[in-house]
Amino acid sequence: MTVDALAGAAYIVAALLFILSLAGLSRHESARAGVVYGIVGMAIALASTLALTIADAWGGSGALLGLSLLGAAVLVGAAIGLWRARVVKMTGMPELIALLHSFVGLAAVLVGWNGHLAHAAIPPQLVDIHNAEVFIGIFIGGVTFTGSIVAYLKLAAKISSRPLMLPGKNLLNVLALVAFLVFTVWFVIDQQLWLLIAVTLLSFALGWHLVASIGGGDMPVVVSMLNSYSGWAAAAAGFLLNNDLLIVTGALVGSSGAYLSYIMCKAMNRSFISVIAGGFGIVASASGDEDYGEHRETNAEAAADLLSHAKTVVITPGYGMAVAQAQYPVADLVARLRERGVDVRFGIHPVAGRLPGHMNVLLAEAKVPYDIVLGMEEINDDLASTSVVLVIGANDTVNPAAAEDPGSPIAGMPVLRVWEAENVIVFKRSMAAGYAGVQNPLFFRENTRMLFGDAKERVEDIIRAL
Ligand code: NDP
Repeated sequence: MTVDALAGAAYIVAALLFILSLAGLSRHESARAGVVYGIVGMAIALASTLALTIADAWGGSGALLGLSLLGAAVLVGAAIGLWRARVVKMTGMPELIALLHSFVGLAAVLVGWNGHLAHAAIPPQLVDIHNAEVFIGIFIGGVTFTGSIVAYLKLAAKISSRPLMLPGKNLLNVLALVAFLVFTVWFVIDQQLWLLIAVTLLSFALGWHLVASIGGGDMPVVVSMLNSYSGWAAAAAGFLLNNDLLIVTGALVGSSGAYLSYIMCKAMNRSFISVIAGGFGIVASASGDEDYGEHRETNAEAAADLLSHAKTVVITPGYGMAVAQAQYPVADLVARLRERGVDVRFGIHPVAGRLPGHMNVLLAEAKVPYDIVLGMEEINDDLASTSVVLVIGANDTVNPAAAEDPGSPIAGMPVLRVWEAENVIVFKRSMAAGYAGVQNPLFFRENTRMLFGDAKERVEDIIRAL
């Protein structure tokens, strides 16, 4: 059997493993197996691609140098990848993912350029298709590259998460798309180098603008959208490199990312088209910095007293729980309250934290039983009859302005209606706004008490007081 045939068979196995991986990742119970399928699939894909490359290059001029460079690149990349994956904190995961998407985009741009500069062996009847592939691959890759860099900068809080509102921003995006279409046709007819330079710069600018125009509240959709774009960029590179597995894998990532974005848009009551078009149709609204009056504070002893007399308690965690790594004391507190007969449950907002499923992962890590962890829709109607809600490091996901203030930048986003409960205790370090940069009127309500400080330390204080 030839290396080609073996690699072809290995590619089919790898593609099947990727499909199994996606299926596994869709449920808590099978997620670990899903990750293992993905790792095995990727190992098979890498090994067979390497074998193919070695077989192709063997005996040719400069083969040794080429293969050594390839080996060195793989080793350096793998070492950096291993190191980053080991040291990254859970809270830094979304920005790392955004950065990785940018690499896929940049790779697609480089593959596109290479496809133009070194396409000696294309049959004449396929040259037009090849030129269109080069152009489209560079465009998708470029948008993914700079869009992901802006997403990284926003998620890492290196630039403001507020939306950039350039005058005529929608028109700018439409003009960029029209220019891309015209340039593509032009390039297929006449392969001028300046057209490639123009599409590269155009795609960089469009990617930057599309993501910069989107506010913090919509970032979860943007991250999954960029995930989808990185898949399409990889598929485009697969066409140029004539690699079937890259096409299949890219299409899997592209379509599953697009579907995830669609689900998140539905969960957040956002228009899918508006978000992918860089906030199309969204007009500048009130800043959300209104004066809501005075807030009231509490302390750990008073909170412990309230909790020990409560019948029902709901905990709504958010990004601050991840920052404080408070999940372990929170799990401990829950166990103690349940021992005393208090009915304790969790209410999880679909975009709480900084990546889909963030809170579920933290709670699973701390061994909180799955059956008391409920989704927003399952818990929202029970909140009005709840004695105490503990808002642990959540902010945007419990903001009443989303439901009550049509001028708010997060208006329409479904939130956990914690303010309907009898008592609300908010754990945070200051009165600072959440990720969307919008002040939260919950903090000033009659039934709300602020418990300032690091969430982990405050929960430990409550456990001691109990
Ligand atoms: P937010 O980001 O709105 O707020 C987190 C709160 O935690 C802040 O108010 C902060 O206040 C507090 N906090 C931070 N550190 C600590 C600490 N050590 N101890 C106690 N409190 C702390 O959180 P939510 O989870 O409610 O909302 C998530 C936001 O992130 C949404 O806007 C969502 O759209 C966005 N997003 C979500 C993604 C996802 O996929 N889930 C991806 C990208 C963005 P203070 O500084 O005063 O302590």
